[in-house]
Amino acid sequence: MKLRIGRRLGLAGAALTAAVAVVASPAGAGQALAAADHGCFDRAKEPYTSKVDSHLHFRPFGGKAIPFDELTGYLRKTGVQHASMYGIGQTLPVNSSCTYYLDCPGTPVVPSMKNDFVNAENWLETKPEDPELAVSMTFMDLAKPETIPAGIALYDKEFPGVFRWAGEVNVVKQALFPNHHKATTTENIKHWAPFMKVLRERGIPITLHSDLGSDAEPTKYLPLMEEVLRRYPHNKIVWAHMGLSKELTKMDPDRHIRLMERMLGEHHNLTVDLSWRVLEDAYFSKPGVRAKYAAFLDRHPTRAIPGTDFVASANKDYKVYEEELEVTSRINKALGDEAFRDIALGQNYFRLLGINETAPRVCEAAAR
Ligand SMILES: [Zn+2]
Repeated sequence: MKLRIGRRLGLAGAALTAAVAVVASPAGAGQALAAADHGCFDRAKEPYTSKVDSHLHFRPFGGKAIPFDELTGYLRKTGVQHASMYGIGQTLPVNSSCTYYLDCPGTPVVPSMKNDFVNAENWLETKPEDPELAVSMTFMDLAKPETIPAGIALYDKEFPGVFRWAGEVNVVKQALFPNHHKATTTENIKHWAPFMKVLRERGIPITLHSDLGSDAEPTKYLPLMEEVLRRYPHNKIVWAHMGLSKELTKMDPDRHIRLMERMLGEHHNLTVDLSWRVLEDAYFSKPGVRAKYAAFLDRHPTRAIPGTDFVASANKDYKVYEEELEVTSRINKALGDEAFRDIALGQNYFRLLGINETAPRVCEAAAR
């Protein structure tokens, strides 16, 4: 009996050796086979720009949007195969001529269902597979949590099964203070329970814009995010821009990384979102800083997702998208292979969204 098993193993081993020999020789055949097999991703030859855009606003703050087909064309052209289809968490009144809230202090901006409806309609018309898009609920007014479950119920009725993401929604966004936006309170976060339960049951991730603070008070609003994570430990929570913003461009990177590391350690349901070029411009591009953030991401390769934070207002064109993708992807170049695959090639995004996709493995450095 023992002998027979031994012989079987021996045979299997021989067959395996023969198969490897066929694949490995000649060298060209091996490469062709690897490619046909969606084999490995060669970082030396292929672009470093992210294959997923988890933070993409298909609707502008106000005014006209880039047409849906045109925008999906941008994604195809840049090699972005998956994206989250965000509306916008703050819309200007329909009678306003503004396209950007910062140009119109005093004009109130509020979340709205309109942009989500347009996105859902556009998506339903073609249900594109390249790029594959996750339609997101962006209407949620976190300051009025009691209105949210009814909103989700309405979406379920009008667009059953269409919405697979939530956000980006604002916990606190200092840039909107001149437009009547106020920070959410810890008291208010308690009342999120009913809609957070719905998201949890459906495995829907929620992206929260929650400013960490300002240059004068870098962690002023940290308690809000801590409260959200403490109260909802089983929701998939994505922290937009790692809490950074134009109001917080001078925080000591070591301090910021230490804080992110503590939050990821304490809250296993937290993913950080690396979107928005402010991160590159104000932090990663500074001397010595990129290596620090890359090392941080290499220590936590499964905990971050990439994005552009592009806002599709009609005054922008392909060049702007291409540039924002390139700028927000520069950090990818500094990542080790594991973090590169998980973040840039989309493995973390696929897992968070719960889709049956696998990022290609990265070719070994020796083969590059
Ligand atoms: Zn955004």
